[in-house]
Amino acid sequence: MILQIFVQIAGRICEVNRMIKLKPCPFCGGEAEMGIKYGDYGYNPDIYSVKCKRCNARIGKVSDNYADLSDDVGKAWNRRVNDD
Ligand SMILES: [Zn+2]
Repeated sequence: MILQIFVQIAGRICEVNRMIKLKPCPFCGGEAEMGIKYGDYGYNPDIYSVKCKRCNARIGKVSDNYADLSDDVGKAWNRRVNDD
């Protein structure tokens, strides 16, 4: 049981490690990092966010169904006004 939970968590961490390369912050040019705040099944959702390490500008997406949104939030962070 405990091992099963560990494998589940490890699997989710591995998914995060293949995250897309983040562009620098559009406001200050600082380095961005992705963070995941895991909820608890049935009560609080997972929250995927990207934030600038320098100025703390941040975007976030809420995963109500516990789907992995790391790609989603990474693409949202990387989107710029002149992108298609
Ligand atoms: Zn910034």
